[in-house]
Amino acid sequence: MSFLELKGLSKRYDGVTAVAACDLSVAKGEFVSLLGPSGCGKTTTLQMVAGFVQPSSGRILLDGKDITEVKPNQRGLGIVFQSYALFPHMTVADNVAFGLEMQGVAAGERRKRVATTLELVHLGALAGRYPRELSGGQRQRVALARALAIQPPVLLLDEPMGALDAKLREEMQIELRALQHRVGVTTIMVTHDQAEAMTLSDRVVLMNKGSIEQVGRPFEMYERPNGRFASTFLGKANVFEAHRAAPGALVEVQGHRLPSSDTHCTGVMEYIVRPEKIALVPDAQALLRGRVNARVFLGNHWLFQVDTPLGVVQVTHANNGLPQAAEGDEVGLAWSPEDARLVPREGS
Ligand code: ATP
Repeated sequence: MSFLELKGLSKRYDGVTAVAACDLSVAKGEFVSLLGPSGCGKTTTLQMVAGFVQPSSGRILLDGKDITEVKPNQRGLGIVFQSYALFPHMTVADNVAFGLEMQGVAAGERRKRVATTLELVHLGALAGRYPRELSGGQRQRVALARALAIQPPVLLLDEPMGALDAKLREEMQIELRALQHRVGVTTIMVTHDQAEAMTLSDRVVLMNKGSIEQVGRPFEMYERPNGRFASTFLGKANVFEAHRAAPGALVEVQGHRLPSSDTHCTGVMEYIVRPEKIALVPDAQALLRGRVNARVFLGNHWLFQVDTPLGVVQVTHANNGLPQAAEGDEVGLAWSPEDARLVPREGS
């Protein structure tokens, strides 16, 4: 059942199509991320849902009602911006009470709701402080509390962790996820950070150049990207231009014959293997041979760059002790057919 629906939603500025005919259905209680590179139209899409940007065409439906022409403040949505936009001259409690006051909620009820919402984000003890007296993470929680206090049907988050450092960002992601599960509020978040999208979302909406490229659960999308863009934006991937004459035949990559369990695809395509799916093996078992030109230690894994006749291949292995090869070593590379994904070649 769809709770929030975007139907053919587009936004054009003079000569620029920021968002092109996007269709998306979000279920009640779902956490969906709009993910993509800078300029792909994520923020414009979110702003249209918020009501700050008027679509050039298309409709937005909330719980079955068309809200495309409804003013932002009458949509009753909770919004958190990257900058938080807290009122500096108001205490934490007053910041959180602001939306309730706007809605005309009576003082007694307002106090109760402010207290419960602040408890929800673990800020009960800081109700009397001013924003300048808070850490970045605490400010972010105030912004969340302010958005949630009005009990919105949908929570909109625009790069909500953008101002936090990497470690705090990770902590807040886990916290936000738990909070969203507890409250059950339908949430749409804009991010350009694939790890953040995967950590938080039930489904990821991958955008590129104003259009939706792929929608899916994080694991699904990582395992089965539908093209070069999806495979390289969500994680790392080795992508080779390939060709197959008939269904079920081996795939031809620059004269090398490689296996894939995607048996149906034929013609020109791309052959995709994730770095962590590639094993270093003895020559007899190798699909491809090469020489390690660089080996980098990255804490939880090793990255090997291997020069092969097909170009540089990246291989990553979990750090389970000593690495399997050194710079300069000749190595054999192998992977299983299930780990080789075939997708249509972009632009073909
Ligand atoms: P970022 O991650 O950098 O914020 P984004 O994916 O959110 O990027 P948008 O801000 O939605 O991208 O912009 C999409 C496209 O629309 C860009 O090419 C941008 O330059 C253009 N655009 C956005 N707002 C306007 C505007 N008010 N006038 C003209 N062009 C605009």
